[in-house]
Amino acid sequence: MLTRREFLTLCLTATAATGLAGILTPFLRQAGAEGILPRPPVIWLELGSCTGESISLDNSRNPSLYQLLTEFFDLRYHWLYNTVQGDAAVRVLLDTVAHEAGKFWLIVEGAVMTAANGRFNHVFVRNGEMVTGLAALTEFAPQARYIIAVGDCAAFGGPAAAHPNPGGGKGVWDVITDRVIVNIPGCPSHPDWMTGTFSHLLLYGLPDLDAYNRPKMFFGHTIHDKCQRRQQFEDGIFAAFPGGDGCLYKVGCKGPVTHADCPLRQWNNYVNWPVKAGAPCIGCASPHFPDGTMPFYSHLPGIKTRSVRVSVAKIGAAAAALGIGAVATHLAAGVFARRIHKQYLDGTKPGDPTPPENLAQVKQELDDLIRRQNALLSEARKIEAPAPRRRRRSLLKRLINFWRTEDKTGKDE
Ligand code: SF4
Repeated sequence: MLTRREFLTLCLTATAATGLAGILTPFLRQAGAEGILPRPPVIWLELGSCTGESISLDNSRNPSLYQLLTEFFDLRYHWLYNTVQGDAAVRVLLDTVAHEAGKFWLIVEGAVMTAANGRFNHVFVRNGEMVTGLAALTEFAPQARYIIAVGDCAAFGGPAAAHPNPGGGKGVWDVITDRVIVNIPGCPSHPDWMTGTFSHLLLYGLPDLDAYNRPKMFFGHTIHDKCQRRQQFEDGIFAAFPGGDGCLYKVGCKGPVTHADCPLRQWNNYVNWPVKAGAPCIGCASPHFPDGTMPFYSHLPGIKTRSVRVSVAKIGAAAAALGIGAVATHLAAGVFARRIHKQYLDGTKPGDPTPPENLAQVKQELDDLIRRQNALLSEARKIEAPAPRRRRRSLLKRLINFWRTEDKTGKDE
């Protein structure tokens, strides 16, 4: 049996090569054989969401979704994975809440829609009455052993709570304030983040959580810390458009302010992840996603220190200017990155009154956003314009010049 320390080390370091996925199943099975695996009853409640976490969990390799649900969990209710539907499924759900209080885990996917007393989101029918997600959550949460919010919507509101948020979407911890909510954000959550956290809960209880209740073993570092393009950031080599070579900072990468281990873990069976594929990180594991991380293709705001205000767009150039001394470059970039990080977090605390105030302003902001993104696209098109044509034109020009010059000097006569 692994000690907790060994387990954490595995979670922190396991990659495609070493494979957290490959380790968890045998480990959990061994714990099951030794009789120390509780196999808890689990209620998976889906609120305002796109079902992204359920689908992402289906991408879990080892343990697979099937193994998780049949060997390690005693799944009682999940509207998508139930083998029965309708009244029969609801009966199991309500029996579990009534008879296994203090034992069952409540896993919540999706934002809690709170406007109009929750009427934007109904989750099941009881005695002919539709029950809202808000009512189900507030009824079940006090009885649950653990409450786990999977995905950015359940954790922090996420896209379901994006401005202007007519449904009043909120994170679970904004509604259930007297319990510890384990937040596993991401849009969607990585399957390892979910299975790893579930495993920790099964074997050792609550994992260490950060200020946003995210397990530190997966969210303890910024994406920027581990990014494969980090050296290019430090050398001041920036991509001019998404998909280009170089660090994606100038085309909007939110890696410096987003805590998650995507560069290490990678997605889709550990094959690739957005930044490696050329798309800037959009900060989907951030508590401020998406309002606070938009526009996705614009870089982060400037940094203010006590004596100086620096445009972060110049960081790469500054780092490159220092480039001859590699150590100095590294330190400078690190200091700048930390300042950006602090400034960004300070400026976007949850609940800040950042959203626009009226529809005209929303429209204006959208127009600006579209204009900026169009400008970026046309810039990208210019850069991508086929070089051979330009060469042909300049060759033609040179030929004309040559003949003109020859005529003037009369060398041909
Ligand atoms: S800014 Fe983004 S692309 Fe650049 S090094 Fe940081 S995380 Fe990687």
